[in-house]
Amino acid sequence: MSLSNETLQKFRQTHRGDVITPTDERYDLARRVWNAIIDKRPALIARPRDAADVSAAVRFARELGLPLAVRGGAHSIAGRGTCDEGIVIDFAEMKTVRVDTSARTATAEPGARWQDFDRETQAHGLATTGGTVGDTGIAGLTLGGGFGWLEGKFGMTVDNLLAADVVLATGERVRASDAENADLFWALRGGGGNFGVVTSFTYRLHEVGPAIIGGLVVHPFVRAAEVMKFYNEFMKGAPDELVAAMVLMTAPDGHKACGIAVAYPGDLGEGQRLVAPIKQFGEPVLDVIGPMPYLAQQAMLEQAMPPNLLNYWKAEFVNEISDEVIAVAVDAFSRVPSPLSSMLFFPIRGVASRVHPTATAFPHRSGYHVGIYSLWNDRAQDAPNIAWARDAWTRMRPHVAGGVYVNELGEDEGADRVAVAYGPNYERLARLKTRYDPENLFCLNANILPFAAT
Ligand SMILES: Cc1cc2nc3c(=O)[nH]c(=O)nc-3n(C[C@H](O)[C@H](O)[C@H](O)COP(=O)(O)OP(=O)(O)OC[C@H]3O[C@@H](n4cnc5c(N)ncnc54)[C@H](O)[C@@H]3O)c2cc1C
Repeated sequence: MSLSNETLQKFRQTHRGDVITPTDERYDLARRVWNAIIDKRPALIARPRDAADVSAAVRFARELGLPLAVRGGAHSIAGRGTCDEGIVIDFAEMKTVRVDTSARTATAEPGARWQDFDRETQAHGLATTGGTVGDTGIAGLTLGGGFGWLEGKFGMTVDNLLAADVVLATGERVRASDAENADLFWALRGGGGNFGVVTSFTYRLHEVGPAIIGGLVVHPFVRAAEVMKFYNEFMKGAPDELVAAMVLMTAPDGHKACGIAVAYPGDLGEGQRLVAPIKQFGEPVLDVIGPMPYLAQQAMLEQAMPPNLLNYWKAEFVNEISDEVIAVAVDAFSRVPSPLSSMLFFPIRGVASRVHPTATAFPHRSGYHVGIYSLWNDRAQDAPNIAWARDAWTRMRPHVAGGVYVNELGEDEGADRVAVAYGPNYERLARLKTRYDPENLFCLNANILPFAAT
């Protein structure tokens, strides 16, 4: 679909930022999202300069009845930051992060990535819980929950969100915080992009680093079951601040391996003492756990998750890394067709786990997030790589806690899985959706149906 020149001209009168249409030579690059399996062709990509531009784009989409997608860092695995034949609000030109050192807060525009955010905040020795891969967008991650290395000490990303500026479906601009539009603020913290377009996020910051204890140990895959068993026991006794994740992967030398990655953002001496059992267990083939800049920790997983690959992911939560979970994971990973794929167990712990499941819209406050991440680079190999993730997931299902992270829902997952993602908060979210977006303008997300539309 293409919009007429007259329609485009009308839009340009209200939207000062860049506008990219299918005839623009930048179009193919501009429409690309992180997951290369997503190949959508929007009618218009609007790159707002400010909140007024966002209001204009929202009104324009509503008036024309066009699908409207909102894109921060474009990392949505389901490709929710783009659409066919509609409008994409792309925050590529709104990436500023401002730190207020006296208030210990940072206000960030929605196009910022975690690497932008961390760079600005670490310049002042500050940080907040963010994604574990630097080029992930702050916007989508925050609106879905946000687990990361600092969650044990400071809570999830949503727990550190203090306020957001939002453009509603009417185009009206409001502020959401505990003091203003508190219901909307609650819904934003886990309810994804269902309620409006966020034009700025204000976060609480904490003293972090510059050095923390971080890094990982790697063991041969033949030891995976015993390493996972050790990991499960170790985590039961670990203090809040210590966040360690378990990964099954293929090492750069082509051998399958398993690793434990850690972060302890506290006293370095105490951290060294706490991670000693991880370093001493078994005979790791690689041990790079030790003091390192927080920024290096935040960059550690980047190479394992490069952009522009084909991706098919499945996710769940488990209460613990039980023998059954270990058996499924190890057997499934032994059959993985692509050396780029991995399985990651990331705990929800410490401060993050002590927030009540209904205190924010993000409900999954215990156990481990299980990511079954199928990555490959050849479209001819789609079938076996998708089948691998589906099969591993199907076999994991009898052992899961129930629940899925809204930010890791796949494109092919239906309303039943969306309901599971919001869990006990679904009904309150649906009531708020009915109030804030009764016509479901913001539907290109893990969609909560307003009551009127059901
Ligand atoms: C490599 C990789 C690593 C990851 N690591 C982590 C991790 O460590 N922790 C974690 O919690 N998650 C992680 N995730 C999942 C991540 O939270 C989601 O992919 C999230 O959607 C990324 O946000 P984004 O802004 O980049 O995505 P986008 O694709 O830009 O946006 C995703 C969706 O968010 C909504 N949205 C985006 N911007 C706005 C806005 N301004 N206003 C309203 N709605 C908006 C829209 O519904 C949009 O469709 C990771 C994902 C990847 C691909």
